[in-house]
Amino acid sequence: MHPRLAADLARLPDLLDVTRRQATAFLDGLAERPVVQAVRAPEPVPLPASGAGLQAALQDFATRWEPGLSAGAGPRYLGFVTGGVTPAALAGDWLTAAVDQNPTSSLDAAGQQVEEEAIGWLRDLFGLSAGHQGTFVSGATMSNTVGLAIAREWLGEQLGVSPAEDGVGALGTVRVLSGSPHSSVVKGLSVLGLGRTALVPVPTLPDREAVDPAALERALREADGPCVVVANAGTVNTVDFDDLRAIAALRDRYGFWLHVDAAFGAFAALSPAHAHLVDGLDLADSLCVDLHKWLNVPYDSAVQFTRRRDLQARVFQNAAAYLGPLGDTPDPVHLTPENSRCLRALAAWFTLRAYGREGYREIVERCVACAHTLGEAVGALDGLRLLAPVRLSVVCFTLADAPTTERLAALAGRLADEVFLTPTVYAGVPALRAAFSNWRTTEEDTRLIIRALERAVRELPEPSSR
Ligand SMILES: *Cc1c(COP(=O)(O)O)cnc(C)c1O
Repeated sequence: MHPRLAADLARLPDLLDVTRRQATAFLDGLAERPVVQAVRAPEPVPLPASGAGLQAALQDFATRWEPGLSAGAGPRYLGFVTGGVTPAALAGDWLTAAVDQNPTSSLDAAGQQVEEEAIGWLRDLFGLSAGHQGTFVSGATMSNTVGLAIAREWLGEQLGVSPAEDGVGALGTVRVLSGSPHSSVVKGLSVLGLGRTALVPVPTLPDREAVDPAALERALREADGPCVVVANAGTVNTVDFDDLRAIAALRDRYGFWLHVDAAFGAFAALSPAHAHLVDGLDLADSLCVDLHKWLNVPYDSAVQFTRRRDLQARVFQNAAAYLGPLGDTPDPVHLTPENSRCLRALAAWFTLRAYGREGYREIVERCVACAHTLGEAVGALDGLRLLAPVRLSVVCFTLADAPTTERLAALAGRLADEVFLTPTVYAGVPALRAAFSNWRTTEEDTRLIIRALERAVRELPEPSSR
């Protein structure tokens, strides 16, 4: 063994302690660290010919790279839809690396069963029936892509062909109907060979991002041949929800594959006051839920649920004599794009075991309350304008006066020490959005954000008149 490796091995418990202290220091500083950092990244250095050991690597990371990291796991990073890491999720993630299991083959130990237990808990959390089977993937983009891959095979089944065997050419024209799909759906269509133009945009309800069921019915009537409908349960701009029951009723008449993207919206099921938003979620043929958002496990984690595991295995089967049989309960190796991967369930398992349904209900309800507090403040502030009612966890707003992309970027820039917001365009208007999904965020954070916002709006230069 190389002497550096041998030395690190001999000191492993010690070195893990040093690592723990460094991690703790980072986490302790999260609330004070500027939410996004303005520092420039250091210059890359060449690969060391002879390494310096773990302790030196920790030091180097702390001095060169840590100062530039954002407080993405902290309470006031409200860009995109992110979430942080609960204590139990962090422990689960550390142990994932420590045990270093590949859970995708039943020829190996109990990893697969841990994942099944976690999937069962998640099914329960979102009120799904046993008809849904789930697998862990790296994020909602992958979950949507896997769901659409199963949908593609279903289309083949309707036409008496198998795209998995014969390629997408066997399908002819494919139509994927959706009101306000997430961009990752479009990416998935490209990856799957269906093409981005397979997406048929369906009109939404007036002043809404939710699909208009009557318009969807017209589009279905016009489509010749089987279709896929992507329903959106929580859009990223205004967290609007398609009427899942109405869409499922259309499926009874028109027969399509119903994929539901509930990346973060599925968590509405945990709040009795909001559960109606995802009424009918269980009716999906395939369903996407992100876990590194509102479940607050670290990247990368999401779950893919489907009622047609047989079709899933037809797409993703990886036949090799040494990998184990496909059978009626195929190993995960036959269910997703990856063959080898980590024991991804562990962070989710730990956090669900530690905090349970009530812990998560509290997180969801607190995030929703914070979003409402901010929404009300934005609505009351001269100079800002809410672009949509706060339905769940996102506040989408703009400047009352001259809401240009540049002025909004200037506003976001003035806020960057206290809060991170990301830009968007909603109904043709440049806007900012604040998305609440981090378990650490409190009303106190929200009040701090409101004060920062009031100040930034006051100090923003007048629009230049031309
Ligand atoms: C975040 C998100 C995605 C993509 O998720 P990743 O985890 O970034 O791959 C897809 N759909 C919706 C609705 C999302 O919010």
